[in-house]
Amino acid sequence: MHTRTRVLVTGGAGFLGSHLCDRLIADGATVLCVDNFFTGSKDNVSHLIGQTHFEIMRHDVTFPLYVEVDQIYNLACPASPVHYQNDPVQTTKTSVHGAINMLGLAKRVRARIMQASTSEVYGDPEVHPQPESYRGLVNPIGPRSCYDEGKRCAETLFFDYHRQHALQIKVARIFNTYGPRMHPNDGRVVSNFVVQALRGDPITIYGSGEQSRSFCYVDDLIEAFVRLMKTTPDFTGPVNLGNPGEFTMMELAQLVLELTDSKSELVFRPLPIDDPRQRRPDITLAKQALDWEPKVALRDGLTETIRYFRHLLAR
Ligand code: NAD
Ligand code: UDP
Ligand code: UDP
Repeated sequence: MHTRTRVLVTGGAGFLGSHLCDRLIADGATVLCVDNFFTGSKDNVSHLIGQTHFEIMRHDVTFPLYVEVDQIYNLACPASPVHYQNDPVQTTKTSVHGAINMLGLAKRVRARIMQASTSEVYGDPEVHPQPESYRGLVNPIGPRSCYDEGKRCAETLFFDYHRQHALQIKVARIFNTYGPRMHPNDGRVVSNFVVQALRGDPITIYGSGEQSRSFCYVDDLIEAFVRLMKTTPDFTGPVNLGNPGEFTMMELAQLVLELTDSKSELVFRPLPIDDPRQRRPDITLAKQALDWEPKVALRDGLTETIRYFRHLLAR
């Protein structure tokens, strides 16, 4: 007999996954962390390895997985444009075959399953801020498509398993999230700017830097994940999870320079193809259904993130 909830976290050795494993262990769950270590690392969960209720398994979710669990958080998928475009076919496979396998597993063991979807399902949005009802403006054949369309297809699979097999699904559309344990060479904007500022290297602004993003601190997001998993069976989402504070990349660069007390210069680089011009979540639904909203301001979250990278770079 087991009394602890058995939770599978795919992508559990990644940035978000490792914070989720920490939280679940602290809440008294038994955690199975599954990862192929493509962008994640054992270092992110090394403090959990050896604990009785934590287990880590090297496995690629594009292959079937037979385990017994009560809940699944499906996070496996590279998240940074640099990494997901490195092997785009594998990215689509991870989202699509990975979703099929994890849904097949959830169906067999009757587990509740959450999908880490993304604001990228809205593409380069014409509606601003983005509510869940907005269907998006996604290019199906561009360099970002492997990620965007893979995630959109995963949402389709989640809803079809829900309708066809009565699975309990929870779909989270995550907006840009940052914090400690982002990979220093991840290529995402927060890690890039912080590492560049700390090293005194030029800050690389893509395009004019007038494009905007909304940045959520990792602790706020993990709180939302846990709340989402606990919602009643009829609540499926999709639900936007993110911080509605909106900043241009120029504003972000200035803030990072100020907080790191860095003299790095700004350099301008070409804007990547299909780079969304603006992004901000409408979190009305999350507020109402999860009684949740982000608490950590960008300035405070960046301070923690800078502290982390300072230690990492000093090693
Ligand atoms: P990450 O790259 O740090 O984590 C992804 C993890 O998945 C890594 O540990 C990687 O090794 C693992 N992985 C990749 N392919 C796999 C496969 N085929 N089998 C098993 N493991 C595999 O990125 P993250 O920021 O922690 O993102 C986690 C999830 O959240 C992803 O699904 C991502 O799409 C989603 N998401 C993140 C953000 C964000 O801003 N951080 C925004 C939207 C969506
Ligand atoms: N699957 C898995 N673990 C399980 C059950 C299923 O990885 O515990 C995989 C299985 O290999 C299959 C996929 O999930 O390819 C979808 O399973 P489902 O039962 O929905 O479909 P079917 O097996 O009928 O194709
Ligand atoms: N960006 C930038 N400099 C960098 C990395 C990214 O100006 O060194 C920009 C990028 O073009 C995009 C924004 O920052 O407009 C966010 O990029 P990221 O890759 O973090 O996330 P996404 O584009 O997936 O939201």
